[in-house]
Amino acid sequence: MVCLICGQDRQERMTFRTLLSADSSPGFCRTCREKFVKIPQGHSCRLCGRDLGLMDEKFISGSVCTDCRRWEKSGGNGCFGRNIALYSYNDWMKEVITTFKFRGDAALAVGFRKEFRAAGRKIIGKDWRTHWERLRNGKHHPRETCVIVPMPLSGNRLKERGFNQAEVLAELIGEPVVPALCRIGGERKQSKKNRRERLESGENPFKLDEAFSEVLHGTKVLLIDDIYTTGATLRRAAAAFERADPKCVDSLTLIHG
Ligand SMILES: [Zn+2]
Ligand SMILES: [Zn+2]
Repeated sequence: MVCLICGQDRQERMTFRTLLSADSSPGFCRTCREKFVKIPQGHSCRLCGRDLGLMDEKFISGSVCTDCRRWEKSGGNGCFGRNIALYSYNDWMKEVITTFKFRGDAALAVGFRKEFRAAGRKIIGKDWRTHWERLRNGKHHPRETCVIVPMPLSGNRLKERGFNQAEVLAELIGEPVVPALCRIGGERKQSKKNRRERLESGENPFKLDEAFSEVLHGTKVLLIDDIYTTGATLRRAAAAFERADPKCVDSLTLIHG
């Protein structure tokens, strides 16, 4: 098997199990894989999922980072609950993302299939551990439904890129994906506005497709995106769900950066 990044042979022993498993191949070789920095789930910000080990202690209080405290104080969370992220944004991740963008290749996300799938299934309670606990505890009540929604791109961006990375990631979880959000208008570069300006301009580029309103009522929503940066985009998307009155809106991103 060939590494999706460097193209070298991955030199991994193939067995029937690895061939048939949904959790293996395609992927990255060991050298490439080891340069990604995984976020330790036991030591990440409870609200945005960033690696607390990479932060100065003075920016952390009660396993929450200062950015998230600021969101709490400003009342900007709305129905947004928390984000879980799998990798930190380091130079290597940046390089790899640029390469894949240049190639116009959707496969980057696919290379993280095993990890992303496992994380997604755990959040929605479809992993083997949750199954086993349910069996052991003899819980027969119906499980809570959780709806997986990918973050949409605007029509222009989609045309430019040819695919939506968030959609590719969402599909990796292996459960039905609900395209409940759409993105209207052009996307203005985030960097052109500062954080305050973005918060103050009330325009929300995300709209809920009314057809899904009923399905979403009282459910848990899991938004999927490639990267959590300031958290503003995900919170805006979450706000678009408010009318459908879901139980909560959380998110899962491949990267925190
Ligand atoms: Zn490689
Ligand atoms: Zn945080």
